[in-house]
Amino acid sequence: MNSVPEPLQPGALIGILGGGQLAQMLVLAGHAMSFRFMVLDPNPNCPAALAGAEQITANYDDRHALTVLADSCKVVTFEFENVDAHAVAWLEERVDLPQGSQILRISQNRLKEKAFLERLKIPIAPYKKISTVNHLSQAFEQFDKLILKTATGGYDGKGQVLVSGSEQIPHAFNELHDADTEIVAEQYVPFEKEVSVIVARNRLGEVRCFPVAENLHQKNILIISRIPARLIPAVAEQAQIIAKQVAEGLDLKGVLCIEMFVLADGELVVNELAPRPHNSGHFTQNACATSQFEQHIRAITNLPLGLTDTCQSAVMLNILGQHLPLLLKKLKHLPPEAKLHLYGKQETRTGRKMGHLNFVSESPDTLLKSLIKLGIWEESLLTRML
Ligand code: AMP
Repeated sequence: MNSVPEPLQPGALIGILGGGQLAQMLVLAGHAMSFRFMVLDPNPNCPAALAGAEQITANYDDRHALTVLADSCKVVTFEFENVDAHAVAWLEERVDLPQGSQILRISQNRLKEKAFLERLKIPIAPYKKISTVNHLSQAFEQFDKLILKTATGGYDGKGQVLVSGSEQIPHAFNELHDADTEIVAEQYVPFEKEVSVIVARNRLGEVRCFPVAENLHQKNILIISRIPARLIPAVAEQAQIIAKQVAEGLDLKGVLCIEMFVLADGELVVNELAPRPHNSGHFTQNACATSQFEQHIRAITNLPLGLTDTCQSAVMLNILGQHLPLLLKKLKHLPPEAKLHLYGKQETRTGRKMGHLNFVSESPDTLLKSLIKLGIWEESLLTRML
């Protein structure tokens, strides 16, 4: 688009593909900006509907539902990258969909994502496309230790197997080999830290990054983020430079998360892209002048991006199904910095993201020690963030 687009007027209806917690938080931020929302989600009473969005309960590829969304909304966005790219392309022809389907095609497929990052000369882990068990044996010889991943469909560590001994090769291959999806072997990266950057870009070409978050995962699910990440300034700056390069390279409109590994020498290796608000950016709700959710709405409604350089130090803790019962019993013992965000999901399951807590704190170490005493999260995990 060459002409400078007009901002969407307050009161306009915004459509979202997906009605989970990310959509819920987009809705909450967008309501404060006077926008209205319609979400498409197959599960009745999805978290976004609980926050007041109108819901179309249908599958993501349901043409009738997509037509209603296109005819009713001024702009449509998606809250996660595993929506059907064909459905998004179809929708793109009918309604303003600033993120576009191209970014989905790249981020839905690890091989395409890696090829894109290589074109931008952004460092990634060495990898090989795997079609046969022999390919995997060769990759193992070359990499010594590797992670086998499905090229499509994986999230929160699903569709991944670590291969650290040659005897594991046949099982790992059989586990992931599937006629429907390609598989990729990635060299295991002996990282010191995992970090992420949320970057936003709008149609005017304005780009802004949030501070770098330091993240800790357990069983591939994010448990805790500490902000700012404990990095030397040059490395933190480099992480933001990479984020901006990716945003420009993708012609991003909206927010995007770039997850990276930090090696012992400070080198950064990009792991994954998520073209939407991200769990590791939840701290922005309470620690920054603009949240990642508000920023995404600003970007897709052609508003100027909000400030991201006025952020305070913070800790974000995920509340998974296994944490919720004890947390609810200990609410009165939470430190006064605690900001509780629960998504209202009906069913509590181990590993399911039920909510999160943000803590804006000048002294994250003292805060983490007080959280260890609560006994809700594993002490060994919190200690690793001290
Ligand atoms: P992903 O789904 O690719 O984000 O991977 C989930 C988690 O697995 C990451 O957050 C890392 O903790 C770990 N992981 C993924 N790829 C690698 C790799 N190449 N080397 C080491 N750890 C990895």
